[in-house]
Amino acid sequence: MNDIALSRSLTADLIALEGLYGAKNYKPLDVVLTRGEGVHVWDVEGNRYLDCLSAYSAVNQGHCHPKILEAMVAQASRLTLTSRAFRNDQLAPFYEELCALTGSHKALPMNSGAEAVESAIKVARKWGYEVKGVPAGQAEIIVAADNFHGRTVAIVGFSTDPQSRGGFGPFAPGFKVAPYGDAAALEAAIGPNTVAFLVEPIQGEAGVIIPPAGYLKRARELCTEHKVILILDEIQTGLGRTGKLLAEEHEGVEADLTLIGKALSGGFYPVSAVLSNSEVMDVLHPGEHGSTFGGNPLACAVARAALRVLTEEGMIDNAARVGDRLQASLAAIGADSVKEVRGRGLMIAVELHAEAGGARPVCEALQARGLLAKETHDHTIRIAPPLILTDAQADWIAEQFDAVLQ
Ligand SMILES: *Cc1c(COP(=O)(O)O)cnc(C)c1O
Repeated sequence: MNDIALSRSLTADLIALEGLYGAKNYKPLDVVLTRGEGVHVWDVEGNRYLDCLSAYSAVNQGHCHPKILEAMVAQASRLTLTSRAFRNDQLAPFYEELCALTGSHKALPMNSGAEAVESAIKVARKWGYEVKGVPAGQAEIIVAADNFHGRTVAIVGFSTDPQSRGGFGPFAPGFKVAPYGDAAALEAAIGPNTVAFLVEPIQGEAGVIIPPAGYLKRARELCTEHKVILILDEIQTGLGRTGKLLAEEHEGVEADLTLIGKALSGGFYPVSAVLSNSEVMDVLHPGEHGSTFGGNPLACAVARAALRVLTEEGMIDNAARVGDRLQASLAAIGADSVKEVRGRGLMIAVELHAEAGGARPVCEALQARGLLAKETHDHTIRIAPPLILTDAQADWIAEQFDAVLQ
């Protein structure tokens, strides 16, 4: 205890304690947050920051949204968990509202994003055997290079990032990697046993990589032509982030399975879901898949409120409008160190030239000015503030980047 009593600040104490007891699987900025409201968060020293990460797009609705909070507290004091052994009165309306909003036939509720991905893989394989007629044990799923779909063993097994997969094998077979954004390569990869193509409409963790126009549309056509399920992972791009409810709408395509998570709860609680047409989801029968917490009444009540505020408060249109404004002002900075500004809605990246000294020092300089952003890989800074961002706040963000990059 002496070390701690002698140390300089609460921030330093808490960071030292984390280092002492925690698994070292993250390298966060040295800021310890204690409170959040809207686009802002406060650290334990009382400093205020504008949050330009939104917990990797899980708090699209802004921190501690009062209506989601109210729904959560009300439900938490009534009923939190029944398991799916019994029914609860929040699940049916959650299904109905979610399917109506997203134009889906069926939904499967899970908790984390990775679980939604795992669930989709199971459903697609089963569909492949029972409906497509793929020989037992031969189902193949095509994924994209530089994908990010989560951290389970099956998922990191088909990652192309050495850090994500190195040392964690052996991995599940049945996955094939095709370059992202290349429809011809996708076509060449499809074989008789291909059951699904799993892809992000915009690659988030890879650094906000937007595929060439027409890629998703062509992927949709190829999937239909070859009887392959198109699985769009919208866990990060979905629920308003890109200025549409789902990013697939930018290209006018419809997936067979759509995965959502993160902002489905507005950051209050882990809630994810697989959205499906009937043909595919109906391959699941009682006892074949499940989750103790999946579809629990607290999760459903929170998700219902999170979806309601997203639409009722115009956050999706706001993301489109303010996102355009912010992208334009970031592009106008024109600093020598900047290679490219790209994005859709409020999913934005500033990529620096390789020789510019890296994104981490830029993030630290932004932190000192009251803006929290996180580098992704070495040279890219992601900007993904809550979707309630105002024009004035967008302009302020651009000013801070201007000051740090010039
Ligand atoms: C975050 C993310 C996931 C994984 O979600 P978790 O809740 O962290 O398991 C999957 N896919 C994409 C595209 C993501 O951004």
